[in-house]
Amino acid sequence: MKIALLLPNMRKSRPKQITDTSEVFKYSDRVWQPIMLATLDAILEQKGHKTEIVDATALNYNLYDILDAVKYSEIIVVQSRRMDYYASADPNFQYVLDTINFLKENTASKIIVIGPYPTYYPSYFTQADYLVTYEPEITLPKLIRKKETENCSRRIWNGDPPDLNKLPHPNFHKLPMSKYESESIDMPRKPFAWLTTARGCTFKCMFCLAGRIFQTYRERSLDLVFEELTILVEKYKIKSFMFMDYNFTYNRKRAVNICKGIIERGWDFKWTCETRGDLLDKTMIKLLAKAGCVGLGVGVENLSSSVQKDIKKQFDVYEVVRLIKKAGIEPSCPLLMGLPNETLEDLENALKFTEDLKIQHGGLKPVIPYVGTPLHRYGKKQGIIKNDTSEEVKRNMGAFSEVSKEQQLQILHKFLKIRRKLLYKKMLVHPRFALKVLKHKLRRTKWFS
Ligand code: SF4
Repeated sequence: MKIALLLPNMRKSRPKQITDTSEVFKYSDRVWQPIMLATLDAILEQKGHKTEIVDATALNYNLYDILDAVKYSEIIVVQSRRMDYYASADPNFQYVLDTINFLKENTASKIIVIGPYPTYYPSYFTQADYLVTYEPEITLPKLIRKKETENCSRRIWNGDPPDLNKLPHPNFHKLPMSKYESESIDMPRKPFAWLTTARGCTFKCMFCLAGRIFQTYRERSLDLVFEELTILVEKYKIKSFMFMDYNFTYNRKRAVNICKGIIERGWDFKWTCETRGDLLDKTMIKLLAKAGCVGLGVGVENLSSSVQKDIKKQFDVYEVVRLIKKAGIEPSCPLLMGLPNETLEDLENALKFTEDLKIQHGGLKPVIPYVGTPLHRYGKKQGIIKNDTSEEVKRNMGAFSEVSKEQQLQILHKFLKIRRKLLYKKMLVHPRFALKVLKHKLRRTKWFS
């Protein structure tokens, strides 16, 4: 059977002016490998299907280009999000729905949608023939097999969590690898790649979806991780890389072995990762730096210890960030607005933190009450969330504290101003950095947040 694996074009242009805090989600120019599709491609090939991957984001395809690329496929598998392995999902996924509707109108192919959106919001995907929720690697081939042999009336297929050690390497060679690029100013732009070495998260932060899409925590063996990295280094000559695990240092021994493995092999690519602040200490941070880590994402979310306790994310933010900076790594510290029990003072403190510690990465965003999270349940119980329509999701972004949306917008504008100031100051002090930024800016018309 001929199968197209499609990532719709997810590039979204920058709004001219931010007039609503929800607009921080509206801009994206990330061009990263659709790793889930590349893995599915390898699995489906092993089962004898004729497959192709169409990365309409990397190729910047419009709907007619996409149609040309997929029209002869009997099945089109649509990945609903750029990185289907990730914890938070942009609530604006109209472009995915538009692509599906267009393909339904113009092809006779069966459409299967995978990823977080059909998992969280299945009722939005009325035009799709089938939905595979949660993880697709085991269930998608079963659905395709069933379709080949008999009539298949069940529309929603819940994905079973795969053993990560039984998954093949992604079919990198079927992706336009030269198109992918790092967003980080601290790493070479290209050649870039990212991988997940473990799925799931055992923490239960109030707002986070991680425990929903991946129902258990699982690791890929280090032998397989290093095999994949070797392909990326030797064949694709990667210069920048991201470990996209939710908490790279969750299994400390494993993180240490990955770092040591990179050092022993003499690989010189630069890389970034993310983890929790309470899973870091001086020794770990120093080792990350020695292995080439140049950017470390640590979700700060809120500066108030009582809010941190409520959301189940407590650590000494100032101390951790100082250690990271001291090791020569750039910290990225995402912050949230509108969490329960947050005050205006907490948000002012978030601005002070950004300015005092010169935090140049990680945005300030309104919290989204994703279906299935403790925050969503809290919102329902408090009568804040009435239903799960997209209008309601938008209305309830950042709606759980006493800080009004107007105040949040003012804080956001102040935050962006601080960021611009930090950037300009750094550019004045470091001319080489200024040159890099200008090149970066020429390439992308984005605000530096
Ligand atoms: S640590 Fe918390 S925020 Fe991070 S992935 Fe796990 S649940 Fe989500």
